[in-house]
Amino acid sequence: MRLAVTSPGTPEIFEALQGEGASMGRPSVFLRTSQCNLHCVWCDTPYTWNFKGTEFVHRDGTKFDRTRETVDMDVPDVAARLMAATPRRLVLTGGEPLLQQRELGALCAALKAADPAWHVEIETNGTIAPTGEAEPLIDQFNVSPKLAHSGNAAALALKPDLLAWYAGDARATFKFVISAPEDIAEVDEIVAQSAIPATRVYLMPEGTDSATLRARAAWLEPLCLAHGYNFSDRLHIHLHGDTRGT
Ligand code: SF4
Repeated sequence: MRLAVTSPGTPEIFEALQGEGASMGRPSVFLRTSQCNLHCVWCDTPYTWNFKGTEFVHRDGTKFDRTRETVDMDVPDVAARLMAATPRRLVLTGGEPLLQQRELGALCAALKAADPAWHVEIETNGTIAPTGEAEPLIDQFNVSPKLAHSGNAAALALKPDLLAWYAGDARATFKFVISAPEDIAEVDEIVAQSAIPATRVYLMPEGTDSATLRARAAWLEPLCLAHGYNFSDRLHIHLHGDTRGT
């Protein structure tokens, strides 16, 4: 598996409270994969994809050294590290974890064979269908479709048929990153197009510091109430700031 790192050679595996979405506040162990098929201008983990020599654009303007920022590990080694953690809730995050779903399937199978208590949730941008061994072993899909302000072309970032498939699966919830009140119209359009139940939609302010999150939460709260959507904070930002391994 190709993983992101907290420092060169050290995989980004860490215990923390889930900071976002339907499971916010739950004790979890996180595994961050490297690489993403999208390239959001405000991505808070550009070290998983914005490597030197690529043409991708990020608002920070920083390019990362691919060799320093990634580590390759065998699935049994990853499973052993996760088993050593206390929580039995695994959050697969990235980057885009479903780019490596064959390995994720083997990982989930190994964990659940060792301890059936494992609950696996995955953070995905909703552009890749889960298949094979991974699909039935994932307990929760945290789908985060990317709006126009992400800087991705809509044809790449939004797959209405796939979002409709996720909407038909009770394991999926949907988290939209919101930068401005006008973004809600785009959310409404996607929700209607893919028949996503409003009760499974979370609106989350974009921001990598507490002051920005609080300021945006102030105008996002009445919009959630008016549209019947849930609100998601970014708990880890309030607790630890924008730092790796949290
Ligand atoms: S889809 Fe997620 S990981 Fe990929 S660039 Fe966008 S915010 Fe970053």
